[in-house]
Amino acid sequence: MKGIIRNVDGRKRVLIPASVLRAANIETGDAVGVYLEKDVEGNPVIVLSKYESGCFLCGNPLNDQASKINDHYVCVNCVNQLKAGNP
Ligand SMILES: [Zn+2]
Repeated sequence: MKGIIRNVDGRKRVLIPASVLRAANIETGDAVGVYLEKDVEGNPVIVLSKYESGCFLCGNPLNDQASKINDHYVCVNCVNQLKAGNP
């Protein structure tokens, strides 16, 4: 085990050091995603990363060509499919 060691408190919380959050480009107010992966030995590993919202329809990452429709961002592929009349 490498890195900073912290204890889980009585409410099942862990304080993540500011230096780690900074390195992950996570700032106050950002949304984060938490999920489980397995290491090479099959042990569970908790992964926490900055949440970047994707296309409202397909979930794919957005680029600068995304459109905002009724407060939801939609990727250019989905916009083109909608224009073509595809579901
Ligand atoms: Zn899409």
